[in-house]
Amino acid sequence: MPKLPRKVAQYFPYSTVRPFQDEFTTTIYDAVREGNHVLLEGSNGLGKTVAALSACLPAAKEKHLQILYAAKTHRQHDRVIEELRAISKTQAVSGLSLRGRAEMCFHPFIVRQAADARSAMEICELLRTAERCPYYQKMSGDVDRCAELQVHISSSAYTSSEIRELCRVEGFCPYEVTKLVVGDVDVTALSYLYVFDPAIRSAFLQRLEKPFKQIILIVDEAHNLPGIAIEIASDRLSQFVIRQAEQEARKYNFPDIAAFSRQLNSLLEQLAARVEEEAHLLPELFLDAIRRRADVDAPLTFFEHLHSVGHVIKRSLLQHGKSPRSHIHRVGEFLSTWLETADDASFTHILSRYVTRTGATSARLEVVALDPSKVTAPVFSAVYCSVGMSGTLEPLESYVKIAGLPDATIQKIVDSPFPREHILSLTCCGVTTAMKQRTRSMYRKLVERIAEVVHHTPANVGVFTVSYEILENLLAAELEGTLEKPLLYERRDMPSRENDRLTRQFKSYAQRGGAVLLGVQGGRSSEGADYPGDNMNAAVVVGVPYAKPTPRTSAQVRYYDSCFPGHGREYGYVLPALTKASQAAGRPIRTLEDRGAIVFLDYRFATRYCQRFLPLWIRRSMKTLPDMNGIVTKELRLFFRPSEEGPPASVQAS
Ligand code: SF4
Repeated sequence: MPKLPRKVAQYFPYSTVRPFQDEFTTTIYDAVREGNHVLLEGSNGLGKTVAALSACLPAAKEKHLQILYAAKTHRQHDRVIEELRAISKTQAVSGLSLRGRAEMCFHPFIVRQAADARSAMEICELLRTAERCPYYQKMSGDVDRCAELQVHISSSAYTSSEIRELCRVEGFCPYEVTKLVVGDVDVTALSYLYVFDPAIRSAFLQRLEKPFKQIILIVDEAHNLPGIAIEIASDRLSQFVIRQAEQEARKYNFPDIAAFSRQLNSLLEQLAARVEEEAHLLPELFLDAIRRRADVDAPLTFFEHLHSVGHVIKRSLLQHGKSPRSHIHRVGEFLSTWLETADDASFTHILSRYVTRTGATSARLEVVALDPSKVTAPVFSAVYCSVGMSGTLEPLESYVKIAGLPDATIQKIVDSPFPREHILSLTCCGVTTAMKQRTRSMYRKLVERIAEVVHHTPANVGVFTVSYEILENLLAAELEGTLEKPLLYERRDMPSRENDRLTRQFKSYAQRGGAVLLGVQGGRSSEGADYPGDNMNAAVVVGVPYAKPTPRTSAQVRYYDSCFPGHGREYGYVLPALTKASQAAGRPIRTLEDRGAIVFLDYRFATRYCQRFLPLWIRRSMKTLPDMNGIVTKELRLFFRPSEEGPPASVQAS
């Protein structure tokens, strides 16, 4: 039986430790005790959440530190609370999961009108000042009961939904109650944005009432972080918003802003007419064009004018009980960012053309951040220490550089707890989605290989392509007619609710002979969604999802090359693609009892170059198959043949 350090064992709530879970936990414990940053790759099924919590809690308790557990989804936040609850059976630990004001609020005005977090904040502020929020007022009217509730919440582990229900009974504001207790609990599970978005972070730190130096930061699914950091620092402005700003200016009688918006829109149209899909814009030239075209002598002063007019409009809308949205404000904000980043080599400025949901062609301006470390490094250098973990982080030294972690960060790859016979990993030669080989006969061959996998897999199969274009071409190559199981597929711009329905429908086939889910790598179905057991027995990864060679991709590669000579292509092009592919590949392997087949349909996955970027648990048993019909069939038949051996017992939550 694997052993844990004595202090960790006090917090570890289960009677058995999974294979390699001790190594994972001990690495974190040793690092955190010394205040070191640590980065670990460990596959699904390892029990990473409970391992990280029980490894960090001893140091947190001894040194009076608080743990922030950053993860992407509410489901992951709730998992943290479930594990804390298990720990709390023998140890005094507390925690909560945090959600934004818009999701916690009971007030009908916010529920109906708040389009985003900022509107929710502004409406809330106004309601509180005007003494028009009964939930807020009740808190000051019943101070004793409110204090009792705070003590109750801060001494145990509660999800945000549970806190909301407790507050509903009392008639208190759940958001404000959470704010009052968040600094008093041992662990807070929260979205990455609370930690990495500078604006959200500064408000959050005020609530926490402690400096970052007293924080142990756990970043779960850390492979997401560079992309999220880039999103945080980037901004975009569509033609639609510019047109709305013009109308708004007319309505509120600001002829100078109406004229400016009209000229900006016409400049955008003129430039977009010369662009096929996307083009790099020299920021200074664009500002010069604005100056001349819209007769703006001092852009900075004019953009500030847009800001302040927008701000006044927002306040007025609020006072009239309307949602505080101003397109003029948005235009001012974006153009100020454009101006601020004009001379900064860690940003690129893009003009792109796209087709809207209604089928119309439109254009947008984008300020694209190229350096995630500008967002993440200040956080890593401010906290006491951090623990980054994911099933797909290799090569770890590249991640350390991209995320701006200190060079001394401890790096560890932990082996997979899955018995080797539970994972089959195959790469098929003779097939590819490489641009020059996308022929009709190649699509037919891909369809034949997919059909082989579907036929010989007991229940559900996920098929994840590199793009919607490939997905649509597989459909055109009669994929649906070739399969003997029902085919469900994602569509471009599918609303998230519809996508959730699709996933539920797919899972409902698990005990009814199985179905095939066709989606894209990096999409909602191939990242974040869990398919334990027969919900997905096999994942087919069709192609290496390299980004299109667009101006932004080239700018990213050039930027990384300037920071890390010789590594630009690797960091900006290859690594993001292989991380996406690995995420899709890992969908069928979620719990220790799962048996999952991963079939890569692209010979490039068999190259040593690509394999360097695949996690150990995939590449350690990868077989390369020659270009022959029936060979996938043979492998799958062997792998899925009925076994007399029962599933391994486990007492841990998976
Ligand atoms: S105080 Fe709370 S309940 Fe009232 S508006 Fe603000 S968030 Fe909503």
